[in-house]
Amino acid sequence: MLDAAFIRENLDAVKSNCRNRSVTVDVDRVVSLDDDRKRLVSEAQSVQQRANELSKSIPSEKDPARKQELINEGKTLREQKTTLEKQVKQVEEDLKAILLQIPNMTHPDAPVGTTDADNKVIKQFGEPRQFDFPPKDHVALAESLDLVDFEAGASVTGQKFYFLKNEAVLLELALVQYAMTTLVKEGFTPIITPDLARVEVLEGIGFLPRDPNPETRQVYTIADTDLCLIATAEITLGGMFRDRILDEAELPKRYVGLSHCFRTEAGAPGRDTRGLYRVHQFTKVEMFAFCTPEQAEEIHLQILAIEEKIFQGLGLTYHILDTCTGDLGGPAYRKYDLEAWMPGRGDGGGWGEITSTSNCTDYQARRLNIRSKSAGQKGTRIAYTLNGTAVAVTRALVAILENYQQADGSVIVPEVLRPWVGKDRIVPKS
Ligand code: AMP
Repeated sequence: MLDAAFIRENLDAVKSNCRNRSVTVDVDRVVSLDDDRKRLVSEAQSVQQRANELSKSIPSEKDPARKQELINEGKTLREQKTTLEKQVKQVEEDLKAILLQIPNMTHPDAPVGTTDADNKVIKQFGEPRQFDFPPKDHVALAESLDLVDFEAGASVTGQKFYFLKNEAVLLELALVQYAMTTLVKEGFTPIITPDLARVEVLEGIGFLPRDPNPETRQVYTIADTDLCLIATAEITLGGMFRDRILDEAELPKRYVGLSHCFRTEAGAPGRDTRGLYRVHQFTKVEMFAFCTPEQAEEIHLQILAIEEKIFQGLGLTYHILDTCTGDLGGPAYRKYDLEAWMPGRGDGGGWGEITSTSNCTDYQARRLNIRSKSAGQKGTRIAYTLNGTAVAVTRALVAILENYQQADGSVIVPEVLRPWVGKDRIVPKS
């Protein structure tokens, strides 16, 4: 969330940033609501001040008629105060609702644009594999190798749910182990987070779980509670330090979290409907860092480098996108995505997103009230937060199955995963 005072002082820049990021929101209303809030708070303070004066003078008032007048005035003031407090609460809620819709500001070097073509490819690693046989897509491979039961997923839970089976289970666990052990070696603290979080934590991170429209709501909410199923461990990892002050001598704090992720995929109906690519539940290993403003850009590049290391280790071909303004979402100031080459995607193969890393500056920590303080510094400042995908399991499975398939229908297990999978090849079940 941006600061209302910042918006007031940078109104034109905030409006043009919203346009660049394809967000339609009434930014001027922030100023008028902020004015209303200040006026109401000041009126409430005056009423309180007069009430305090009265409570001092009433006991010493000798004239009974005057005393009654003062008592009546006190009663009226109490009623006014209650009304003003209700009005302040309402204005604050309205203000918060708008602030939650206003996206973060954007890094000056991020490409401006709103279509996929505006994302800038800044690097490619490897070349798409050339096949001397017609390659299958991951759905066909999963079927012939008996790795996924989509029918049971649809029957037990619904469309876009699935049961993993046989080596797919071992591959998921291997990918988690591989990502976790890599990150621990990089100095990240491993965490297993809850799969549920409170509505206000999701709002702090930049989701809108109170979106009244189920057609656009991105997360599943749990009826009769203030809880949601998390869409990413970014939510729970970011929430870990809400309302806390971090010692700058201990920053950056870097975590690697494991969780399930649940997504309604509202807004993406009909897109990538086949198989494991876009599902409602998947397992993800996520990196998260808390740091100072000075550290943030370097950590962002570190996280990106770790994502590259993980996917180079898996032997996959990928490229890196510097994400354009229209694709940044709400919290990111700058975002890099890795897209892997997936031979079964589209007609003749295509690139599919496998990771995403964002520098969210102070946008998330402001609402979550995460601050930092250094010994030599007066007061506190808002912490900076960053996140990045280490491994999103189902997308990694798509890329591995499609890229490592052989003419005889088997799939070679990437070397780095073999210690956990316990074999070097997955062969069709007879
Ligand atoms: P995000 O948190 O939206 O940046 O997503 C992080 C990563 O999770 C993406 O780069 C994808 O690899 C993966 N992912 C996102 N949405 C889905 C989905 N619906 N199904 C499977 N994987 C997903």
